[in-house]
Amino acid sequence: MAKGGISKVVKLGGFAHVNTVCIGGGFPPVVQTMWKDRLSFEDLEGNAAEQIISRIENLGKMGCGVLRFAVPDLNAAEVLGNLASMVSMPLVADIHFDYKIALRCLDFPIAKIRINPGNIGGKDKVKAVLNKAAAASRPIRVGVNAGSLPRDLEPPAGDLGGNSLAEAMVLAAEREIAVFTEFGFTDVLVSMKASSIADTIRANRLFAERSDIPLHVGVTEAGPLIAGVVRNTAALVALLADGIGDTIRVSLSDTMEKEIIAGREILAAASEMAGTGENSPGVRIVSCPRCGRAGFDTHGFTERWQNRFYAMDKNITVAIMGCAVNGPGEARHADLGITGVGDKVLIFRRGEVTCTIDAAEADTAFEKELAKL
Ligand code: SF4
Repeated sequence: MAKGGISKVVKLGGFAHVNTVCIGGGFPPVVQTMWKDRLSFEDLEGNAAEQIISRIENLGKMGCGVLRFAVPDLNAAEVLGNLASMVSMPLVADIHFDYKIALRCLDFPIAKIRINPGNIGGKDKVKAVLNKAAAASRPIRVGVNAGSLPRDLEPPAGDLGGNSLAEAMVLAAEREIAVFTEFGFTDVLVSMKASSIADTIRANRLFAERSDIPLHVGVTEAGPLIAGVVRNTAALVALLADGIGDTIRVSLSDTMEKEIIAGREILAAASEMAGTGENSPGVRIVSCPRCGRAGFDTHGFTERWQNRFYAMDKNITVAIMGCAVNGPGEARHADLGITGVGDKVLIFRRGEVTCTIDAAEADTAFEKELAKL
């Protein structure tokens, strides 16, 4: 959403078997992630294909609205094009350097492409891509990264002050958008990403003050799980509080599933802070940090169940607690609670103890109780 107003809407998918996803226009921010490995044609056959399709479907259930793939060459474009005809998730092709890859991707039901006009050749090549994208109703994201700014916009080495890097990212985005405008192409989104929290915030605020183009926001190269979540939370909560951010990607050196969970939790936290989202949809997990009193391994249980919880279509609170100190209280107040008490494990459903079991039986018993909700 643009600061002080609503960004224009960009529609993805909606053709053939692919879901329609609206980005911008006041729609809730869309959480997205990026496939972490290179795919080959062998990956689209037999069991390998089933596993990939199942993983993408599960990402969708967890809250992923859009899934991006690196497309480094024409062979990768063919593979992604074929995959795009096998799943309902809108897939995005991320392309650098070669406009022919973008042209080939547009032959397939790929929902969006990401290019930077400045690095895919001359204006005639950009024009060819834009014409084909417009004819196929495919939006394009311009992605500016602080690490690959045009030479003339790079801040001087060692310049860490002021708005210089943020301004350079905005200027780079505006320069790319000007090429689109020259050819009459308006179905566009923009991202300006840096590994710096402050520059990410400044660049997006600056751009949103000047434009109603929908913004894809996130801190890039943000680090491993904990550092990456913290850094993205700091930037995204600030931007979302300003009404900036139409789609988010939490970049982590970790799994896609963790990126989606982090994205959902950041949106829920931002809504809660704004007083609009105490009842965010999905499973809310209350889990204790565990200590020397624990009679139940809350860490192992939470790790085993986490992805399943986020893929569930249930609006419930689940409590996973270690011992009698706080366990029964939290478990009783949750829709479904499990807690260690002495050498036993108790399961509560909507305030009532439904079973007392050994820890080895916890997963099976919990699954049965969950099915009753
Ligand atoms: Fe420790 Fe029990 Fe509190 Fe968990 S609920 S942190 S095990 S005292």
